[in-house]
Amino acid sequence: MILKQFKELQEFLSKPQKVVIIGHKNPDGDAIGSTLGLKHYLDKKGHKTQVLMPNEYPEFLHWIPGSETVYRFDRQNNQCVKALRKSTLGFLLDFNALHRVGSDMQNTLEKYENDFALIDHHQQPDDFTYMYSDTSMSSTCQMVYNFIEMMGDLDLIDENIATCLYTGIMTDTGSFRFRSTTSTTHRIIADLIDKGAENDKIHSNVNDSNTYSRLLLLGQALTNLEILPEYKTAFITLTEAEKQRYNYEKGDTEGIVNYALSLKGIVFGVIFIEDEEQGIVKISFRSKGTFSVNQFARNYFDGGGHDNAAGGRSELSLQDTVAKFKSLLPEYKNELVSSYEV
Ligand code: 5GP
Ligand code: MN
Repeated sequence: MILKQFKELQEFLSKPQKVVIIGHKNPDGDAIGSTLGLKHYLDKKGHKTQVLMPNEYPEFLHWIPGSETVYRFDRQNNQCVKALRKSTLGFLLDFNALHRVGSDMQNTLEKYENDFALIDHHQQPDDFTYMYSDTSMSSTCQMVYNFIEMMGDLDLIDENIATCLYTGIMTDTGSFRFRSTTSTTHRIIADLIDKGAENDKIHSNVNDSNTYSRLLLLGQALTNLEILPEYKTAFITLTEAEKQRYNYEKGDTEGIVNYALSLKGIVFGVIFIEDEEQGIVKISFRSKGTFSVNQFARNYFDGGGHDNAAGGRSELSLQDTVAKFKSLLPEYKNELVSSYEV
């Protein structure tokens, strides 16, 4: 764990500040939950806060308390720039380096004149003035809970804060099943329920919001699934045309990669999604056990993340990206085969 200048930050926050709270590009449940959870907490402490996101986030996260107050850098650029200019402190949540907000917002953030405080659980964080970085944590939401505890303020956690933090812990742990889920995670979750998080509603809001066309897109993805048993690997592809055929909307492909990993005996699951607008193939990597997809994504696909969940991209065509991927596997055969013993 890296805990840098915490006492100074606590001292700084003992007076009312204007705080911007920033999440990463293509925000997920942990990014939305942690930024809004922290916002509700800091508001209660008497600060003025504004959450900034680089771009839109999936419909199934719009119900989260405070969601309507978020500014999007790609849509509300002026408001974002103004909020940054007026602010006295910037929190960076659920990402480890400024490039994770996308190049436009990165350029703006690089000119920021005040201090940044990072709270994040990704590997290899960049250096900021205040830092709370811990890669063993299930989620940034769990770290925001710890941060509130370190500030001596657990009793300030109300229904809104609890709901936000519950959501991010739930989504980042695959509903409390990944290895990063510890007994402490469960204790925190229990406390969040005691403080007002309605767990059944949160699960339902996030998971039971499928449209018929999204299920058909999932069907297409599963039809495209390819299994490479000798490498304990399975991967899925989706072309732009397939996405359009099923009225693709942001968030529709979220979680599909887990179907590859749900196959018995598979330890490495990947999804390649053609993105014509950006001119790239967006890739999600998931693994079980010791095979590090963070390292794999960093080495070959301009990405990163965690040991068992990472993302990346490729500027090759979908076909060439898959060919490149397949050509890399023989080198990792031993690592893959011994990655996870049931
Ligand atoms: P996902 O596959 O769900 O997009 O991302 C899985 C994990 O990898 C998340 O924790 C996400 O923050 C991280 N991640 C996704 N894409 C990238 C990327 O391009 N670069 C880095 N460094 N991390 C990424
Ligand atoms: Mn996270």
